[in-house]
Amino acid sequence: VFRINHLVKEFGPLRAVDDVSAEIFHGEAVFIIGPSGSGKSTFLRCLNLLEEPTSGEILFKGRKINAPKTPVNKFRQQVGMVFQHFNLFPHLTILENITIAPVKTGRSTRVEAVAKADALLKRIGLYAKRDAYPQQLSGGQKQRIAIVRSLVMNPDVILFDEPTSALDPEMVGEVLSLMKELAGEGLTMIVVTHEIGFAREVATRVMFMDRGRVLEEGEPGGFFNSPSNPRLRDFLSRVL
Ligand code: ATP
Ligand code: MG
Repeated sequence: VFRINHLVKEFGPLRAVDDVSAEIFHGEAVFIIGPSGSGKSTFLRCLNLLEEPTSGEILFKGRKINAPKTPVNKFRQQVGMVFQHFNLFPHLTILENITIAPVKTGRSTRVEAVAKADALLKRIGLYAKRDAYPQQLSGGQKQRIAIVRSLVMNPDVILFDEPTSALDPEMVGEVLSLMKELAGEGLTMIVVTHEIGFAREVATRVMFMDRGRVLEEGEPGGFFNSPSNPRLRDFLSRVL
């Protein structure tokens, strides 16, 4: 889905992402872990062009997207993003939050979008909330709605940036179990998280970022059981 070649993102003198190359394949659940400030969010934001890379290339389905002629809106319709703070529209109902993008972009008719939204709401057990407003929902419910709002667009990939770190502990599980289900169905996802146990359980591949670089990557078995990079060993000893 993505091919990243020598990606660099600088903020003034700071290299937040420092020469990262990677390939993300269809059906993968790639998890990115690493200390605070290591560039995880910046990397993810470059992937959907919320940040403009300083140099390097990002190819999406074989096409370079960090180029002046890229139809950014069309590209973003194919790449979902779920943030720490949900980013639902407070003045729209749950149903409107979910259907606004597919209708506005012409991806579906209103009738189709509503049918799809209703089916997804039933699936996650929140159909009863379809006409409620975001502030009437718990954090875990809001985050599951944010995930559904991405899903309704049928994206090729969904990027998650610490989707559970703003939640009360008792609500983390409901969001993780939805993500796990989606990964099991083969949804391509790239997930930045501090939930190491969850990464170990669900990831097809894990990457460790430190100071803007990917220092280690691999399948979760080897990555967690026999990490070779000393900084990763040190990081894991502090978080596990
Ligand atoms: P966390 O785990 O705390 O979310 P992170 O790995 O996501 O950290 P980033 O948010 O990507 O880290 O930040 C990487 C570095 O880039 C940090 O030093 C941060 O201060 C800096 N940075 C991020 N965004 C900006 C910005 N818009 N302007 C200037 N510096 C920034
Ligand atoms: Mg971050």
